Amino acid sequence: MQEEGIEGKTRSILISGASIAGPVLAYWLNRYGCKVTVVERAPAVRSGGYPIDIRGTAMDVVDRMGLLTAVQAAHTESRTLRFVDAQGKDIATISPYDLAANEERDVELPRGALTTLFYDLTKDSAVRYQFNDSIETLEDIQAKVEVGFKSGEHGSYDVVIGTDGLHSNTRRLVFGPEEPFRRDLGFTCNLFSMPKILSFHTGRSSIPNLDERQR
Ligand SMILES: Cc1cc2nc3c(=O)[nH]c(=O)nc-3n(C[C@H](O)[C@H](O)[C@H](O)COP(=O)(O)OP(=O)(O)OC[C@H]3O[C@@H](n4cnc5c(N)ncnc54)[C@H](O)[C@@H]3O)c2cc1C
Repeated sequence: MQEEGIEGKTRSILISGASIAGPVLAYWLNRYGCKVTVVERAPAVRSGGYPIDIRGTAMDVVDRMGLLTAVQAAHTESRTLRFVDAQGKDIATISPYDLAANEERDVELPRGALTTLFYDLTKDSAVRYQFNDSIETLEDIQAKVEVGFKSGEHGSYDVVIGTDGLHSNTRRLVFGPEEPFRRDLGFTCNLFSMPKILSFHTGRSSIPNLDERQR
């Protein structure tokens, strides 16, 4: 459904990055009458990623986008978060429900599942997705931004928005290299998936039949 445009004008918007922020913004801007293009450097919406939580106000946004039932169906229902040292010894164990603002309503789902929901909601609307491409040049010319793409295409937009992640290409093009703005906090995080071999009992884990599996 498209609602009336802002001040009666059709504004053209370019969004860089089709992950979470990009398609959500595209949905709302399209709904309020803007002409939206989303450029994504990957050949399709990227499906991988770790589970992320949707809490509080974000659940209201998802609800207003008509996706409440779909995100609830994708809820992973993690039981325990365990932090271990280099020897695999527990440092801390946390129930995800202790972190939830509203245990009944908040959900956790794989990042790729969420991205796909947002993309599916917008792909058949007036939002135009331009995959396999990236912004190469940005130039303010009067009230417009002239954009040159890696593919050789050119476009003219009222607004360009960067939703291209931590090391944003859009931010680099506007503000320069990220190094002066970045402060390394000295933490490293590694996430991966593994087969479900653990069984959980009231927040603690055990590995049944381990000897059998090692044979
Ligand atoms: C362990 C962990 C847990 C987290 N949990 C939560 C949570 O519970 N709740 C929460 O809200 N957030 C959580 N986050 C953060 C969340 O995952 C990110 O904030 C979110 O993915 C950012 O979305 P985004 O759309 O801004 O950017 P990204 O997901 O980083 O996507 C950027 C997109 O831009 C594209 N792109 C990059 N460069 C270019 C380019 N040059 N041209 C075109 N496209 C480009 C990329 O391919 C990608 O599709 C968590 C993060 C981690 C690491």
